[in-house]
Amino acid sequence: MPELAEVEVVRRNLVRWWLDSSATDVRILDERVLSDTTPSAIEAALRQDVKELSRRGKYLFAHLADDTVIVFHFRMTGKLVLAGVPEPKYARLSWLVDKSGWIVFKDQRCLGEVRLLGKEEFKEYEPLQKMGPEPEDITVEDLNSTCSKRRMLKSALLDQSVVAGVGNIAISELFWRVKLAPKVRCGELSDEDWESLVQEMPLYFDEVIEKSMGDEIFYQNEAGMENIFRVYGHAGESCPRCGGEIEKMKVAGRVSYYCGSCQG
Ligand SMILES: [Zn+2]
Repeated sequence: MPELAEVEVVRRNLVRWWLDSSATDVRILDERVLSDTTPSAIEAALRQDVKELSRRGKYLFAHLADDTVIVFHFRMTGKLVLAGVPEPKYARLSWLVDKSGWIVFKDQRCLGEVRLLGKEEFKEYEPLQKMGPEPEDITVEDLNSTCSKRRMLKSALLDQSVVAGVGNIAISELFWRVKLAPKVRCGELSDEDWESLVQEMPLYFDEVIEKSMGDEIFYQNEAGMENIFRVYGHAGESCPRCGGEIEKMKVAGRVSYYCGSCQG
């Protein structure tokens, strides 16, 4: 499942492939990816110039010449790639940009969505209204005001209304960087812990974005995925910091990786 970093990589790719251009051909291969949007509306939209590509949390937005906005949400297995043909495997929607080739919304499980919003609808788009600050903007005060003391920090950070774009992989990596136990509760963090967490969040994402740059993003357990993480997916191996053993357990319903020696 993409987190902030993967969506940002796709955004940067689209800036190269699509910005200030429009589609000269559109293929709607599977209408299930269209949410509250008709095939004719998305086709007309894709044939307009793209004026800006922005991201909030795990959502990507293409701002069009007439001020409407195409929303891309990748969910489990969605991604946007460049292809030489309009119908590579798992293609759901493809459009041809003459300077680049076919831009393809690929989605193996087809849970992702593409949606066209009017200017006013975009301003009121509910996921954006509810979304917390980006990791690079969040402050200790923001976190303290939204995380109740008894709540597990992991479930607080997975909540997109607390902070935008943080997912399960980022949690394991951030907890390792800040030396927090996987089940720590918000009330157990010291002032220094909160400060380190707020400092490490944007550094972590910048590092993952840099390591993930490429024409295609890969998800955990997908062919082509290289494990770029320090603890995530490394159970049984040695901690890169202290040499202790990396362990895993389920916390807040999802697996956490952590060093049994130097965290907490
Ligand atoms: Zn360690």
